[in-house]
Parts: sequence; C-alpha cells; structure tokens
Amino acid sequence: MATAPYNYSYIFKYIIIGDMGVGKSYLLHQFTEKKFMADCPHTIGVEFGTRIIEVSGQKIKLQIWDTAGQERLRAVTRSYYRGAAGALMVYDITRRSTYNHLSSWLTDARNLTNPNTVIILIGNKADLEAQRDVTYEEAKQFAEENEDAFLEAAKKIYQNIQDGSLDLNVAESGVQHKPSAPQGGRLTSEPQPQREGCGC
Ligand code: GDP
Ligand code: MG
Repeated sequence: MATAPYNYSYIFKYIIIGDMGVGKSYLLHQFTEKKFMADCPHTIGVEFGTRIIEVSGQKIKLQIWDTAGQERLRAVTRSYYRGAAGALMVYDITRRSTYNHLSSWLTDARNLTNPNTVIILIGNKADLEAQRDVTYEEAKQFAEENEDAFLEAAKKIYQNIQDGSLDLNVAESGVQHKPSAPQGGRLTSEPQPQREGCGC
C-alpha cells in the first residue's frame, strides 16, 4: 500500500467544528459524496471523508474530519484538532446561540492547532433566509459559501507551502507531501477512520 503511486501530491487534514445540529455532517457528506443525506444520525465520535481537488494544477486530497458537536464529547474531539491544516467552523444562521458559541470554538481551534492552521467560518443553512437569526452584515467578514470554503482553505494552505511559511517537516502541519515518483520516498501511513462515510 505504501509503495503505490499516488494520484495526488498532498494530503490536507481539515476538521469541521461547531455546535450540534449546525450541519457539519451534511457539509462533509455533500462535499465528499456529492449527495445530500436525509436521515443522518447524530455523529458519535469522529469520522472522515475524502475528496481530491485541484489547486494551481496540483492534486490535493482533502481528508475532512467531522467532529461531534456534543459538549460531553468535546474532550474526545479535542484530540482531533492536532495536525489539522484547516478548520471549518460552522454555525447555523437560523440559531443565534450557535453563532454566540463561535468564540469558544475559536478558542479551542486556536489553542489546539498550530499557528498556520487556516480557520474558515461557514454560516450554514443559508437556504433558510426567512428564518435568519444572524445578519449577513455581522458575519460577512467570515462567512463563506460551503464548497468555496473548502477550496479557499486549500488555496491558502497551498500558498503557505509555496511561500515557505508552512514547514512540512513539522508533524502538526497537517500536510503530508506525496512525491509523484514512489521510489525511495519516505511515506507515512494515513490514520484509519473509525468508519468511512455516514452509512445511513
Ligand atoms: P451536525 O450535528 O452539525 O453534524 O448537523 P447535521 O449535519 O446532522 O444536520 C443537522 C440538521 O440540519 C439535519 O436535520 C439537516 O437536515 C439540517 N441541515 C444541515 N444542513 C442544512 C442546510 O444547509 N439547510 C437546511 N435547510 N438544513 C440543513
Ligand atoms: Mg454530525
């Protein structure tokens, strides 16, 4: 497995954080499986999905970890922040409490990731405009469209690699370089998911 050629040059680890019910699991499944799931049970623990995207002609595999939003599991999910290149912080535009809790999510993200981790805010459920509880204006400097947010984060991470501000030799960088020629390359194995996909 470790010697197989890769059809991508990098793996970026992302985490998705935010209160329960804001749509983290849906974002993951929409992005990684290109479908919208009707009855996804509440996430227990952590799972991840992957998708290969292209940034500046480079194929990049996004490994996106979905954390459980439950407060009681917060200690468990904290261990998944380590090594994240990108953190997608999600709130629900129809529930102000989920917006108000962003500061504590941001504190966790800042404390438990490295200084180069790119943190992007997503105001989710934008289709429910009539029930909006957080104005666009107050969140506009942070809010990103869902799929754009994943791509924007990847562009910024790639930019950090290009300009040398992200040191790939540091274990917590959240990025693994995968040279296209497999011979002689030192390869690290990917963490195995507890389960891949929602299964619902
Ligand atoms: P999580 O706890 O953050 O993982 O949230 P889920 O992904 O389980 O979503 C919680 C609920 O929000 C589900 O019942 C979804 O139907 C709903 N939901 C998620 N994303 C959207 C969205 O963009 N629009 C609308 N209208 N509902 C959404
Ligand atoms: Mg979930």
